[in-house]
Amino acid sequence: MALKGLDIFKLTPKKNCKDCGFPTCLAFSMKVASGAVEIGKCPHMSAESIEKLSEATAPLMKTITVGKGDNEYKLGGETVLFRHEKTFVNRNRFAVIFSEDMENSEVDAKIQHIKDVKYVRIGEEMKTEFVALKYISDKDKYVSLINKVKSSGLEVAYILVCEDVPVMKEALELIKDENPIAYGANKDNFKEMVDLVKNDNIALGVKADSLEDLYTLTEEIQKLDYKNLILDPGSKSVKETFENTVQIRRINLQGQDRTFGYPSILFLNELAKGDKFQEVALSTLFTMKYGSILVLNDMDYCRALPLYGIRQNIFTDPQKPMKVEVGLYSLNNANDASPVLCTVDFALTYFVVSGEIERSKVPAWVVIPDAGGYSVLTSWAAGKFTGSVIADAVKKSGVEEKTKSRTLIIPGKVAVLKGELEEELPGWNITVGTSEAMYIPKFLKELVANS
Ligand code: SF4
Repeated sequence: MALKGLDIFKLTPKKNCKDCGFPTCLAFSMKVASGAVEIGKCPHMSAESIEKLSEATAPLMKTITVGKGDNEYKLGGETVLFRHEKTFVNRNRFAVIFSEDMENSEVDAKIQHIKDVKYVRIGEEMKTEFVALKYISDKDKYVSLINKVKSSGLEVAYILVCEDVPVMKEALELIKDENPIAYGANKDNFKEMVDLVKNDNIALGVKADSLEDLYTLTEEIQKLDYKNLILDPGSKSVKETFENTVQIRRINLQGQDRTFGYPSILFLNELAKGDKFQEVALSTLFTMKYGSILVLNDMDYCRALPLYGIRQNIFTDPQKPMKVEVGLYSLNNANDASPVLCTVDFALTYFVVSGEIERSKVPAWVVIPDAGGYSVLTSWAAGKFTGSVIADAVKKSGVEEKTKSRTLIIPGKVAVLKGELEEELPGWNITVGTSEAMYIPKFLKELVANS
């Protein structure tokens, strides 16, 4: 059970020295009890007290780190059941499954899809983060598959899916430098599996036939003093998987039971039974309901566009507006004759508008004022995207020294600001742009052709 602030306070040095950043040891203890601060922030705590408190005050769900270098990912570490309570912490990751019984052409096609689907949306790179390599029965072919995928140039982290201990041992030798996940601990092999992964602290995927069995097995593995785990809630049916996934999170966070305090892996490729539309629908569901790694059959653009979009929405902190930096942006190598556009600092708006300007290939400057991180109409209605705000941003941006053009294009949705801006920016030609970003390329090309 979680400790109360006073329990923690009894173990502090009671110096009230403020070295932890809090005015008193009691204030610090209350923050530790709420999970907002780690006990290690007090440099004067005795080793004995730290040992007593570390486990009891640790987050209810562990954060597991897997992969290496640019392909290192944190999983789990969640603190709430619902996104409206507080932001979710570590976004779910997508994996594509490979197995040694696949034809070479299928393996090659999946590798190519993973390479092809890589793009930036609202400042975040979207790509397949994991490949799951599944062992069926032929060890030599499995080893060949691992070598083939590893040498394919994919930038991913790895999941070895294998319940055969000797085969897993051999597979790990090939890939353990990549800090993979070794998935396949069950009630019969878990001791050998823990022995295999313990020295390198490799994350161990745990599976069982039922929720109760998974709980018992996880307890058994914890008794072996191994807690670098990822739990599989099962993939027999959508109903059971959904119930199990929700129960695991509830038991962990509401029941404050650390036995289920681990990230999860869900084999949606098995649940969807080859139906790619079902796979996308299930991925959407389990992005919201607690899948840490979602394993799919493939990742092409048809799957990626809806899935990465919803993931970005779910894992964005609702308390923080998604903003880009205020200032001046040069697009398509803007020069001293390029027109100037203005839009708001809401990240989604900026990236959509800048994407369309880039698509037009017309060199242009973009001025971004501080509009509160809202969309065009919302910030205008809130009085944060007014003529004086835009004029001020234009003057401070220094764009008047960068271009001789005095054409300022404002969003069509705030055409009403034209008159005010003409008064605020004498000498500028205020032009009302398009109401929808998709029409920007045509608009800009015509503007340049007529100038
Ligand atoms: S650093 Fe430690 S001793 Fe000092 S005020 Fe904070 S909790 Fe108390």
